[in-house]
Amino acid sequence: MVRFAMKTRAFVSVALLIAWFAAMTLADTPALHERVHTVDAQHQCATTLLASGSYEHAAAQVVLSVLQDAQQFANIAALNRVWVAAPFLGASIFEHAPPALS
Ligand SMILES: [Zn+2]
Repeated sequence: MVRFAMKTRAFVSVALLIAWFAAMTLADTPALHERVHTVDAQHQCATTLLASGSYEHAAAQVVLSVLQDAQQFANIAALNRVWVAAPFLGASIFEHAPPALS
């Protein structure tokens, strides 16, 4: 069982290394990348991430709802005072400590 796990781990490591080198090769040769699959302006894959150099950090999300959020919080609702009875003051359960000798 341990040998199978070690073989599987070695196979996955070699496969990842081959994939990494293949992506690096495709990133350096755009003509070869276009032969592998169609590349348009919106195309994103591991090769384009490696070619752009931004594979360590994700791109920031574009904030589009700033105006909508500003309008939502522009009007502050008027608050009214409401008296709420404290539920434990009537029972006085915390008024005395338990008896020392019971
Ligand atoms: Zn691609």
